[in-house]
Amino acid sequence: MSDAYLQIDNLKTHFPVEKGILFRKVTGTVKAVDGVSLRLAKGEVLGLVGESGCGKSTLGRTVLQLIKPTAGTVTLGGRTLTDMGGKELRAARADFQMIFQDPYASLNPRMTVYSALAEAIQVHRKVPKAGLAKAVGALMEKVGLAARFMQKYPHEFSGGQRQRIAIARALAVEPKLIIADEPVSALDVSIQAQILNLLSDLTREMELTMIFISHDLSVVKHISDRIAVMYLGRIVEIADRVTLFEYPKHPYTESLLSAIPHPDPVRERTRERIVLEGDVPSPLDPPSGCSFHPRCPRREQVGERCSEEVPDLIEESGPGERWRACHLEPAPLRAG
Ligand code: SF4
Repeated sequence: MSDAYLQIDNLKTHFPVEKGILFRKVTGTVKAVDGVSLRLAKGEVLGLVGESGCGKSTLGRTVLQLIKPTAGTVTLGGRTLTDMGGKELRAARADFQMIFQDPYASLNPRMTVYSALAEAIQVHRKVPKAGLAKAVGALMEKVGLAARFMQKYPHEFSGGQRQRIAIARALAVEPKLIIADEPVSALDVSIQAQILNLLSDLTREMELTMIFISHDLSVVKHISDRIAVMYLGRIVEIADRVTLFEYPKHPYTESLLSAIPHPDPVRERTRERIVLEGDVPSPLDPPSGCSFHPRCPRREQVGERCSEEVPDLIEESGPGERWRACHLEPAPLRAG
């Protein structure tokens, strides 16, 4: 994608594993993120999915420089965040915000909604004190909350309302990029749909670029323009939403999709569930070659290459955009 607004190149986040109290000795490395490259256009929503422990949250935090990367670059609107430090990075932080699964992570329980939002507004805008209540009220209404509740504390709201306050707090600084890390996982299904609709409307209205992280492909489907599937620190498949759901090509994506009930009763009756062998391997000791090979139901079709050679993420032809990291020959299209 040539007109990338957010550009992530070969990003790596490795954590040393140390032993000993006095003489610390590095005994291994956890490669939580291992060479991720992504391009997002302005206003695009990218869904990032994978099982827990695959590195998606670490990738989100590394993109926002909450964790310093081991290698690679992140560029937002032409400015390289990975080159910034100290004051420059603090000033740039208003451009990118994170929404967490637990809204308490970003809300101070001792601050009223008014204080929390007014503080965030003042980071970015010079609003005179007399105009702050109006600005806070407008922000609350933007996320579907009545302005009359601004003097309440976070614990006086429901889980869904608290997530709306956390979203309002993130929006207060007028960011350009949002990373939402499992923002609806802790909510009831009926509330999940409301928060997804809200985020979808806000990204469109404000032309926000967003990475939406979730372990649940059916949640990501509703909000994403494109979807990236992650396994053990690497992206294994990226495609636009329709292509990925209709024609999954990576065996890991196929298995994730096979777990989702199909809304069409005819296709649901013939849905084949692909159950993977074993657990996700430890990122401390990832398998050789394609790290999915010990669990891959299709590795017999390729042979030893799967355990010997790491597959590159390569663009493939076909309907829609698709990149895939797999040694399998591109197969004829098969609806998922
Ligand atoms: Fe399976 Fe081999 Fe493809 Fe990896 S490279 S996903 S092991 S077929």
